[in-house]
Amino acid sequence: MSTSETPSVETKIDGRAGERSRELMGAARQVIPGGVNSPVRAFGPVGGDPPFVRKAQGAHIVTEDGVALIDYVGTWGPAILGHANPEVIDAVQKAVRDGLSFGAASAGEVDFAELVCSMVPSLQGGMVRMVNSGTEATMSALRLARGYTGRDKIIKMDGGYHGHADFLLVAAGSGAATLGLPGTAGVPADVVKQTLLAPHNDLDAVRAVVEQHPDDIAAIIIEPVCGNMGCVPPQPGYLEGLRELTAERGIVLIFDEVMTGFRLAKGGAQELFGVTPDLTCLGKIVGGGLPCAAYGGKREIMEQLAPLGPVYQAGTLSGNPIAVAAGMATLKILERDAPYAQLDAMTERLARGIVEAADAAGLPFTSNRVGSMFTGFFRSGEVRNYEDAKGSDLEQFTTWHGAMLERGIYLAPSQFEAGFLSVAHTEAIVDQTVAAAKEAMAVVAG
Ligand code: PMP
Repeated sequence: MSTSETPSVETKIDGRAGERSRELMGAARQVIPGGVNSPVRAFGPVGGDPPFVRKAQGAHIVTEDGVALIDYVGTWGPAILGHANPEVIDAVQKAVRDGLSFGAASAGEVDFAELVCSMVPSLQGGMVRMVNSGTEATMSALRLARGYTGRDKIIKMDGGYHGHADFLLVAAGSGAATLGLPGTAGVPADVVKQTLLAPHNDLDAVRAVVEQHPDDIAAIIIEPVCGNMGCVPPQPGYLEGLRELTAERGIVLIFDEVMTGFRLAKGGAQELFGVTPDLTCLGKIVGGGLPCAAYGGKREIMEQLAPLGPVYQAGTLSGNPIAVAAGMATLKILERDAPYAQLDAMTERLARGIVEAADAAGLPFTSNRVGSMFTGFFRSGEVRNYEDAKGSDLEQFTTWHGAMLERGIYLAPSQFEAGFLSVAHTEAIVDQTVAAAKEAMAVVAG
């Protein structure tokens, strides 16, 4: 089967949890908190039980209830080539035969580091360190920035999500926002004292925070295109302004490209917008669907890491050979095929179709999109930051989500998430989605 065909076993369309998924969720709740290993999977924000996934192929996931759904979650970003890309699967299968983990230096890690450094502008001529999750990447990059500058404070944006390290769970987006837990229990007040906040896309606000603590700020960390308050692009001049400000003040500028890296361009958002940070965090696509992430950047900063320098960071499974094989195969395909124009065109087609559906239904609706990341907000007017995103009608979103799922379309169960396309999303698949969207918007409009 080609990666873009609908898996043929299934003819049902309604993707809402059927008997089998509900049964599994009941069992899961007994042994896994909330039944899930990551909170937003539980469908809390939109209600009902989630469909359980049996397998994934191309642009589709197949549920335990026997329904093939068009998938716009893409395992939350990694699946840019579509699910189960044959070249990636082949690379993984080959790697598996040589052993699952070495915990020692291996040739594949060198090739992989060279490839990653060559693709991402801020890593060119610099260095990269592999870790296992986006959370580890951001946490480690910030420790490194603090070690390098000898300063303690960091700035993050309101509604930005950088994983679940204690000191980053302040005004956090994504699942934390969705569940109304932008902070969290279990984080001592002392730990978050050094985390300063600014509204996203507001350069003057960041400047003001810097002015208050002129010599104490180690780093500014930002999603250059936000995905975790829904998709929110940078305002013109914003990233450039942050670059200028941080350079002036000796602050390490960190782009969290866990979502945008290798997705918006080969070199991520920094390539697309032409702004080069000091350090970059990578995740999701870099591991090709396996647990692998990375952080890297300027040589003089990266050389502060142990065993070269005094900043400690380690990992038993870091640079794991299977994850490296999957990541390597994925990045090589992206480098070879550069599918970015195609992804952009398909996502534009989809976003336009959804806007037309909302317009036809007379619903206030704002569509944000950068390349193959998109979010439709159920509100009128621009969405430039988390405050704007929070002005969306969440009841309408819930109805929309359910109506789309009923029509075979699997979207993230939260207004505060981005949707993703893959190269397996053909025009026919996008048009099928738009047809469903027309009906779903009519349902939302009542
Ligand atoms: N940073 C960003 C921008 C993210 O979107 C995410 C996860 N969605 C993370 C960090 C954390 O990555 P992980 O879930 O792999 O720990």
